[in-house]
Amino acid sequence: MIIDGKKVALELREKIKARLARHPHLKITLATVSVGDDPASKVYVGMQHRTAEAAGLYPEHIQLAAGTSQKQLEEQIEQLAQDDKVHGIILQLPLPDPLDKDAALAKIPPNKDIDGQTDVNMGRLLQGRKQLVPCTPLGVMRLIEAYNIETSGRTAVVVGRSAVVGLPQFLLLSEKGVDATVTVAHSRTRDLAELCKSADILVSAIGSPALITEAYVKPGAMVFDVGVTETPSGIQGDVDFDAVSKIAGGVTPMPGGTGPMTVACLLENTLLAAQLQNALPS
Ligand code: NAP
Repeated sequence: MIIDGKKVALELREKIKARLARHPHLKITLATVSVGDDPASKVYVGMQHRTAEAAGLYPEHIQLAAGTSQKQLEEQIEQLAQDDKVHGIILQLPLPDPLDKDAALAKIPPNKDIDGQTDVNMGRLLQGRKQLVPCTPLGVMRLIEAYNIETSGRTAVVVGRSAVVGLPQFLLLSEKGVDATVTVAHSRTRDLAELCKSADILVSAIGSPALITEAYVKPGAMVFDVGVTETPSGIQGDVDFDAVSKIAGGVTPMPGGTGPMTVACLLENTLLAAQLQNALPS
């Protein structure tokens, strides 16, 4: 089975659009902040904005020059933080050297932090009091829900331990009510194939093209490919889709899997942020 992220993302965006259409007088705004002129980041921001606009949101982009200082970046974020007309803020990462991402992220108020990256939102997730959580692992959870994939008591392996994907994915899969038994793997994990083969649910967030072959997958497992690598032949995921789809119960394609879900969840989080600011009825 193909786990169709494009289709589920479209359904989610339609729901968001319908909800916003009930409040035509509200102008729910998300602001993206970029530093420097990375072409890949430009493409990604453009896509975020088109998707947001199509759903009835109001995107705003702040483009800062490559030589922007830490102070200028933080002042810009503070300005957006204080602006009642802005409901969600996303800082495009990575930042050019020597900018400090943690200090910059700390200027985003937790209730406008639509990629769940601030200490407060990470802490809430850890304590089982989640509000705004990182969009990519949230997108995987939305796919699990959409396909009614059983998680309770199932074994899950998450490959990758970043704060933006791997670790929040671990927390979301192991939280009460989801109840998977989760192992996090990383570059020092021994016998990765053996470990992955024990998983009913496998999430790969590495950035290593086609590393996950059929030797890593239990027959019938549900496989979510988060990794993205630009190669001369186009975008490639961590999963060898052709080989793995022969034995997996379900697998996300790349592109067309977790990527569209990340963008749809960014919009979902913007609505939640607006709600937390009492700018949108629940
Ligand atoms: P990251 O911070 O570079 O983390 C990568 C993780 O993979 C690290 O924990 C690393 O282990 C682990 N790793 C690297 N090589 C490995 C190997 N051979 N075996 C096992 N683990 C290995 O990257 P990230 O920000 O989490 O992103 C991960 C991937 O997802 C990237 O390709 C990124 O482009 C993609 N991504 C996709 C979406 C989407 O919407 N689909 C969104 C965000 C990111 P160590 O910790 O030991 O170094």
